[in-house]
Amino acid sequence: MNQMMNIPFLDLKGINHEYAEQLKAACNRVIDSGWYLMGRELEQFEATFADYCGSQHAIGVANGLDALTLVLRAWKEQGRLRAGDEVIVQSNTFIATISAILENDLAPILVDVDPTTHNLEIDAVERAITDKTRVILPVHLYGQLSPMPQIMALAKQHGLLVLEDAAQAHGAELAGRKAGNWGDAAAFSFYPGKNLGALGDGGAVTTNDAELAALVRALGNYGSRIKYQHDHQGVNSRLDEIQAAMLSVKLAHLDSDTARRRDVARYYSEHIRHPNIILPCVETASAHVWHLYVITCPWRDELKAYLAERGIQCLIHYPMAITEQQAYSDLARTSRATRTPLHGSVLSLPIYPTLPQEQQRYIVAAINQFTAPH
Ligand SMILES: *Cc1c(COP(=O)(O)O)cnc(C)c1O
Repeated sequence: MNQMMNIPFLDLKGINHEYAEQLKAACNRVIDSGWYLMGRELEQFEATFADYCGSQHAIGVANGLDALTLVLRAWKEQGRLRAGDEVIVQSNTFIATISAILENDLAPILVDVDPTTHNLEIDAVERAITDKTRVILPVHLYGQLSPMPQIMALAKQHGLLVLEDAAQAHGAELAGRKAGNWGDAAAFSFYPGKNLGALGDGGAVTTNDAELAALVRALGNYGSRIKYQHDHQGVNSRLDEIQAAMLSVKLAHLDSDTARRRDVARYYSEHIRHPNIILPCVETASAHVWHLYVITCPWRDELKAYLAERGIQCLIHYPMAITEQQAYSDLARTSRATRTPLHGSVLSLPIYPTLPQEQQRYIVAAINQFTAPH
């Protein structure tokens, strides 16, 4: 083994350091403007982000969870959803996807994911449709688009709404159409570690529905469209001027950052050779933006410990099934997921635009030398 390296799972400092001068200038601009909420920075970022996604509207909100929650809430306000309605969603996702559904008194119906892509499996969705189903909520997991052409066709056939959880998939594209521009609405997160990350919390809703856009905007601002006039019972969920300014700087570099993520992924996929390790499945290169590079291995815990001993930090997305979480164990009653959950075998390797090539080589060499216990 070569000299020991120390490789963090994510190097946020290094990622933001590349744009430090621009970020600091943008921050100063906001400080000097004397205007900190609902101003020109937000307006400009929303316009640019909508344009980037190819959708007509983008509404900045406080975080990704709120983006999901507010869309569902708006659909309830519009009478398109009622308490108790069923939302079909994959069992393998971050908890926020599920909380947004429960927060709105809707019923998450968990279904199996495709064992190769770990995204929604269309047959499983179809089998879970009942006369109470109103929404399909695909999560573009790890940064790879869900099978959207099939999901949209199925939704149309059954008169269902589609909400994309695009928190991990900024810029993922299939057939010329980006994440956030497939469903009736989409939710993005700008959590610092996401592919488009703020320097704090942030999120956005995208949609081509002008009425929905106006309603989401009102709901996130105390239900108000006109100051001190409250037509809805809303909440406070706003993307502030400083974060909007940070995001405008970083959005300009998103495509080149994604290209560098793809280079790392390609390097891993071409060079990791191990009889006990399954590499991530990529159907169309443009449809994956590599928020995470997730391998599966039956000796995952041993592999994770082995890599940690060599200074390589890996994480598990996600270590428990939703139904195993104490707060969500009730969902097991209605769950339609039957396959063995993936959480015992998945392992996420370090991947980010600034990951040096020699570190990539070191990671690959270490993995290829791993001996599975017998
Ligand atoms: C990060 C994430 C969210 C939540 O975003 P926050 O900004 O942290 O609230 C929702 N869904 C998925 C799939 C995520 O990865």
